[in-house]
Amino acid sequence: TVLDIEDLPFVGPATAEKLRDAGYYSIEAIAVASPSELSAAAEIGESTAMKIISAARKLANVGGFETGDVVYERRKKVGKITTGSNSLNDLLGGGVETQAITELFGEFGSGKTQICHQLAVNVQLPREQGGLNGAVVVIDTEGTFRPERIIQMAEAKGLDPDKALKNIYVAQAYNSNHQMLLVDNAKELANKLKKDGINVRLLIVDSLTAHFRAEYVGRGTLADRQQKLNKHLHDLLRFGEVFNAAIVVTNQVMAKPDQFFGDPTKPVGGHIVAHTATFRIYLRKSKGELRVARLIDSPHLPESEAIFRVTERGIED
Ligand code: ADP
Ligand code: MG
Repeated sequence: TVLDIEDLPFVGPATAEKLRDAGYYSIEAIAVASPSELSAAAEIGESTAMKIISAARKLANVGGFETGDVVYERRKKVGKITTGSNSLNDLLGGGVETQAITELFGEFGSGKTQICHQLAVNVQLPREQGGLNGAVVVIDTEGTFRPERIIQMAEAKGLDPDKALKNIYVAQAYNSNHQMLLVDNAKELANKLKKDGINVRLLIVDSLTAHFRAEYVGRGTLADRQQKLNKHLHDLLRFGEVFNAAIVVTNQVMAKPDQFFGDPTKPVGGHIVAHTATFRIYLRKSKGELRVARLIDSPHLPESEAIFRVTERGIED
């Protein structure tokens, strides 16, 4: 069962609303807050804030240990989703993993959204074909989800396009707070679907950073932004672990080297995203339909490159 922040002691509807307004959507988020932060956000005394935090820590099991065999059992369940390109799959050690965050970053038109669409189709395939028989949740922040594209890709894979579309649950995020709230909603949805025997095996956030970048401008607000992004990413990772789902996020980088984030391989969100994402793939355009993917600082895979194509059929070698 997934608990709401109202399940905490001293958190009534009014306090819960203030907490959510301040970006505290989950028990985990409250568990890692400081008493002074929480007290300011909810307009409550620090001692009450402390009690709420300690209750949240117990429920969220923050700082809790688990034995190696439990971790091993969970790791054994890790699934992989084919990207549609063998060379891209090889780069990733077989495909996009569940229980991990895969970040696609690159400039406009580099193929981030195309890969997301392809994964939303491929995850529905049977295991023999590189899928996980799963459903998909898409948090679309830029309005770039295209059912027409899903139909094209589903047909290319021999899937019934109607069924493929019915397995994809799309929500538009209007701002960064809404985007964060949608992860909580996705948990509820995934729990509900699970009861009907449908497993959400993929959660896409396209784009992870666009709202954050637009809303937090200027150096002064950078720390706030990073803190929120950090929380958001941990909520996402938690979703991935709880539902054994792959988390795929996109991050657009600027093409101009003289801009704010100078190095084009340094995406928005900087270190926070870098440290939380398990797989980071830098995408760039090549000739025509060709694209180049490079795996950046992976802990257990060599840094190398893969070439793939974006065609009418989708992602291919
Ligand atoms: P971004 O990285 O900005 O999300 P996209 O994933 O949207 O970029 O990639 C857009 C590119 O994908 C287009 O420029 C085009 O090259 C290719 N593309 C999109 N739709 C199709 C299609 N139906 N057939 C072939 N190529 C397509
Ligand atoms: Mg895009």
